Amino acid sequence: MHIVVMPGDDIGPEITEVTMTLLEAVNRAYALGLEFEIVDVGMASFRKCGNTMPESAVEKALAADGVILGPCGMTLYPPREEGGINVPGTIRKRLELYANLRPARSRAGVPNARPGLDVLIARENTEGFYADRNMFMGIADFMPTEDVALSVRKITRAGSRRIAKVAFEYAARRRKNVSAVGKQHVLQVTDGLFMSEAYAQAEQHKDIAFREVDVDAMAADLYTRPQRYDVLLVTNMFGDILSNEACALSGGLGLAAALNMGDEHAIANAGHGSAPDLVGKGIANPSGLMLSVAMLMEWLGTRHKKSAFIDASRAIELALDAALADARARTPDLGGNGTTKTFAQAVTARVDAGELRATGTR
Ligand code: ATP
Repeated sequence: MHIVVMPGDDIGPEITEVTMTLLEAVNRAYALGLEFEIVDVGMASFRKCGNTMPESAVEKALAADGVILGPCGMTLYPPREEGGINVPGTIRKRLELYANLRPARSRAGVPNARPGLDVLIARENTEGFYADRNMFMGIADFMPTEDVALSVRKITRAGSRRIAKVAFEYAARRRKNVSAVGKQHVLQVTDGLFMSEAYAQAEQHKDIAFREVDVDAMAADLYTRPQRYDVLLVTNMFGDILSNEACALSGGLGLAAALNMGDEHAIANAGHGSAPDLVGKGIANPSGLMLSVAMLMEWLGTRHKKSAFIDASRAIELALDAALADARARTPDLGGNGTTKTFAQAVTARVDAGELRATGTR
């Protein structure tokens, strides 16, 4: 299988390099037959061809079996008309990645992790309250008079249905529990439509427990009683906010993993940004991108019915659990003294040792 690797900007290349070393070890240990192609995007691409996201890079992503994308930082990009194109935004659109999956789990030994937290946020990725991009033409954040400002949230039946399906599919492989999050008594029409599709899926999956929860209650519950929740089905902006909260409750942004997926494509793309303050210091935490790659392996294994990929995904998770439990190995954002490289070596060594070879899913 062909995997396109786009290192991105700022800490992107540093965390991508060590994540690839881990993935090569997994590729060997589980005989996955992965081949990798590095494709420059962001400033590395701009310096070569005057465009941060050239069409050739999009085509390579479209042709690949899977994509690994390091964080991209827009701060140094020139204006759009001069070649500064939003990399993740373009890939999301062109590969039709409508689901943003964000897991958050507390792990043994990780400081400040909320015990009992183990959720997967299934966040709709294409519409909602992103008023600067949710319309066909123009933007939905505007002033009809000089003293009135309005934003419009877009919710569609098709968009709600496809993310609801993904949430139930993932719940079937986890603890069989979906909570749809919104504020239907206030946003009666838009959340009404979103929730109607969630209820329709619940009808079709009687073996999966389902409930509707207000977003404000969920914000508190994730802190006070996270063990109640498994998969959270959420509209775009509420999902963005809740996934950052859940990530902080799992220990911090360095652990933020994400899989962006659609019907045909998926990209592993850490849930944090490009952290320009850490560039070149060698201390960025690669865990988020490594966990995203584990999600991509699981997606490939499920899609192609190849259990070795599921085992490989589980092995990455277990190796990370073991390395994160070791205070000496952890990077400074999690209270350790490790560097990006030494931490990654601690993870990779556990895969190389083969001691974590596991079968079966969670
Ligand atoms: P974006 O807008 O691109 O999402 P952001 O401005 O919200 O980015 P991030 O780049 O995600 O912010 O990170 C905020 C801060 O969190 C960083 O400046 C950094 O200090 C810390 N951080 C983020 N990712 C990591 C990581 N992988 N390892 C260590 N610290 C991190």
